[in-house]
Amino acid sequence: MFYVVTYWACLIVGSLLLTEFYGYWLHILLHSDRIRWLSIRHMQHHLLAYPPGKKQRPHKTYIDPTQVSDHPTFFGIGLEWLVPIFCLIIFTIGIEYVMGLSTISIITSLSIMVLYAKFMFGWLHDSMHIKQHWFMRVPLVRRYFKHIRKLHDIHHHHVSEEGLMKYNMGISTPLFDMVFRTYLPNMKGTQRKSILTGHKTALTRYNIVSLRGDEIDAHYKEVS
Ligand SMILES: [Zn+2]
Ligand SMILES: [Zn+2]
Ligand SMILES: [Zn+2]
Repeated sequence: MFYVVTYWACLIVGSLLLTEFYGYWLHILLHSDRIRWLSIRHMQHHLLAYPPGKKQRPHKTYIDPTQVSDHPTFFGIGLEWLVPIFCLIIFTIGIEYVMGLSTISIITSLSIMVLYAKFMFGWLHDSMHIKQHWFMRVPLVRRYFKHIRKLHDIHHHHVSEEGLMKYNMGISTPLFDMVFRTYLPNMKGTQRKSILTGHKTALTRYNIVSLRGDEIDAHYKEVS
């Protein structure tokens, strides 16, 4: 009995950690500007919807660049993600198979990972950009949520001169930022001028000047 409980506890915790690990490195990849077609929608989120130096929670609803630019999606996921996600799933099945996990364990692990990824990249991230989110009224959760939300604000505000964001890639935990040294708990010493310069450089770099902020505002009025 003890063995069974330990086994499933390890499987669950391991699956969650692996999802965080994938999420961390995918986020690093999105900000490395190596695969432009994959990162463009994320850069719209950073440069148009919630730009550096601007309010990260301007409205009570989430501004989705997908809706603004009519980006093709599948169950709320950008089409460009289907192949990468499929590859990651196959890769994970491979690792777990080599580790000797049973079919039922592999299926459980993958289900946990898919659900957790949806929660972390979808729901939890979006709630960090919503004004007066109800999370802020839940006693025990509030403090932690406020903390990771501050880290995510810094992720949005800190733009390098080359127009890149380099810190706080984790969404639900700063664990891997601490491990891989991309953790930035405050912005002391960062000047507002350098943020604005970085934002301009980034807009040029990613060539997304065609969609301006007021178009997003107009869209927001339309959906609310
Ligand atoms: Zn980002
Ligand atoms: Zn964000
Ligand atoms: Zn619209």
